[in-house]
Amino acid sequence: MMTFAPQKLTLIRDHVMFECMIRRIARSAPRRRIKSMVIRRLRLFSTIAFVVILTPFFLSCSESKVHERPNVLLITLDTLRPDFLGAYGSSAGASPRIDEFARKSVVFERAIAASPRTVPSHASIMTSLWVREHSVGWVNGSSRINGEECLADVFAAGGYDTAAFVGNMLLGTPVGLDSGFDLYDDELRDTEANRSNFVERQADESTEHAMRWLAEERERPWFLWMHYQDAHGPYIPPKEHAAAIQLEIADEAPLPVLDKNRGKNGIPAYQVRPGSQTPSAYAERYAGEIHFIDAWLGKLLRAIGEENRNTIILLTADHGESFGEEGLWFSHGFRTTPDQVHIPFILQAPGLEPTRRSGLVHHVDVAPTLIGLAGLEVPHGSRGLQLAEWLESGQSLPTRTVFSDIGTEVSAYRGDHFVRANLHQRESEPRRFSWTSTRNWSVSPLSEKPLSRDFELYLEIETDFATVDEQSRVEHELRMRQLQALGYLEAGEEEVKP
Ligand SMILES: [Zn+2]
Repeated sequence: MMTFAPQKLTLIRDHVMFECMIRRIARSAPRRRIKSMVIRRLRLFSTIAFVVILTPFFLSCSESKVHERPNVLLITLDTLRPDFLGAYGSSAGASPRIDEFARKSVVFERAIAASPRTVPSHASIMTSLWVREHSVGWVNGSSRINGEECLADVFAAGGYDTAAFVGNMLLGTPVGLDSGFDLYDDELRDTEANRSNFVERQADESTEHAMRWLAEERERPWFLWMHYQDAHGPYIPPKEHAAAIQLEIADEAPLPVLDKNRGKNGIPAYQVRPGSQTPSAYAERYAGEIHFIDAWLGKLLRAIGEENRNTIILLTADHGESFGEEGLWFSHGFRTTPDQVHIPFILQAPGLEPTRRSGLVHHVDVAPTLIGLAGLEVPHGSRGLQLAEWLESGQSLPTRTVFSDIGTEVSAYRGDHFVRANLHQRESEPRRFSWTSTRNWSVSPLSEKPLSRDFELYLEIETDFATVDEQSRVEHELRMRQLQALGYLEAGEEEVKP
């Protein structure tokens, strides 16, 4: 309820008394024209005085409300399988800080990505729309956000300072995910090993940029999006982080090296590293990258903790990574199976009790959950749930179907099974799998189960992709070439990580 300070009450009382005086003049004035002129002037004066004096008060009321809102941190980890985190059962020791954060948070064990591809998944995170509904669609880099209201738009309109720090060149400004951000830092200076035309940024540099931004003086709350690229291949952890992880190496044969990037029955060309070519050796390097992210994420979380202000934090991934499932190695983007779309999803917010939940959640839940927790209005048409409402009420999450989509293949997840449809052949493959260890999801068919009606409805959605503006793409590539010419991007450099 709004309360009024005593001096404001006095002003309101004076305004009312002034109105009474005007009425008395009106009753006593002898001539109609003079009377109405006097009354109009006095009323005008009174109203102006009232508005001038009280407007700052009402503004300061709304400003103080804005100032009281919590800060919001969204973390998206590229290519991160949950089963490499301690919080999801791993014993590799790759994620001590994330695990500590998870112990104080709500851990959702069954979270599904909108897509196994970077841009479509992030577009669903930011818009709370299914892949088929937003203008990015299932395409990874050649389509863009086209006017959809994004998460940062809502926070900006709600009085927040907004900033994003991304590490993947596919998330550069041409795809439009910068919508609503005051600062969108996509300056990437490291060349990806094995692919000299790909640039990226590592966890240490992104975190340092973000911490400088956080240290700026500000009156308003902030919304910060951190995207960490490091778990994306090729896996080249910095030496001390590589040394920190020692997985048990099974007696296994080395994998063949492929000349393509799909990773079918061998090591994709972009992932090839010197040294052992066994699956365990690659898993160890992957876990080393997670250990590196974890260290820098820990610094960021500590810095935010020291701010001594309420902060909502949501950590998730854009997609997972195959480690041998269906013969695919160290790759993603080609399947909607659990290895590629089961993701971590960890939420911390003032008032939410730490717990673990097994209800199904999805990328589309990110925006409504964060917006709702911040006390802002969730845009009409959001597909996701405001998860805090279900957590606070103690209710189980509703049973629903969620989707993962690459255009040619779509999977509908519901409960403990998913139905995969190949849209080229228009056939479905119902499968049941284990949520506790995605590496062992089974292929036992559910007896002749047809596509559900909501899955059919999903497939009927008319897609309307917006193509990346050629001009902005050219400008972006030109900027990257200029950075390269200036020596910021060292093409072909093998050991790019410290
Ligand atoms: Zn990605």
